[in-house]
Amino acid sequence: MKKLVFATHNSHKTEEVSAVLQGDVELVNLSSLGLHEDIPETSDTLEGNALQKARYVYERFHLDCFADDTGLEVAALDGGPGVYTARFAGPGCDFDSNVAKLLRVMDGVSDRRARFRTVIALIMDGKEYLFEGVVDGVITTGRRGAKGFGYDPVFQPEGSQQTFAEMGADAKNQISHRGRAVRKLVDFLKSAK
Ligand code: IMP
Repeated sequence: MKKLVFATHNSHKTEEVSAVLQGDVELVNLSSLGLHEDIPETSDTLEGNALQKARYVYERFHLDCFADDTGLEVAALDGGPGVYTARFAGPGCDFDSNVAKLLRVMDGVSDRRARFRTVIALIMDGKEYLFEGVVDGVITTGRRGAKGFGYDPVFQPEGSQQTFAEMGADAKNQISHRGRAVRKLVDFLKSAK
């Protein structure tokens, strides 16, 4: 089976991505390679950050690898926080303070349209490839649900009455930004066999 390093320390993401890969690919995690430090992501685009993280790992280990970067793009915030989604509430922020800030800045805003966008950068045999996955939805007015992570409690995808945090992992993966991007990655890997 093809082995790929997933350049992330986020165990939620690893679980989600493994579920979508369903045995098509064996994921190698960074700790099994002895890489415990944070991988720099200093670009001002999702594409740039995903490539930066994948290159960081490729340059050290010369193993085929991929990295993802995700942004929450809110229409009323001119597409923000976008590439700054993880750091929205500033230094020392966490999932909880980021969600609190989002609800605060969206208080009273009627246009609640938003989308999650994931970019995956793959480096295979020294060549670079990009895959994108998008899910449209709205920012709810309060938190709902306890599953998932990050902004899941306040993001309700189009066509659903539930937030991502109210859905099970399978239902989320079917329609999520990351699920869609990972399926494109899988299709590519299968066609490249
Ligand atoms: P990252 O750069 O891919 O780690 O994603 C940036 C930030 O987006 C994370 O810190 C999370 O707050 C948020 N995020 C990414 N994916 C998801 C998701 O599937 N649900 C909710 N929030 C997410």
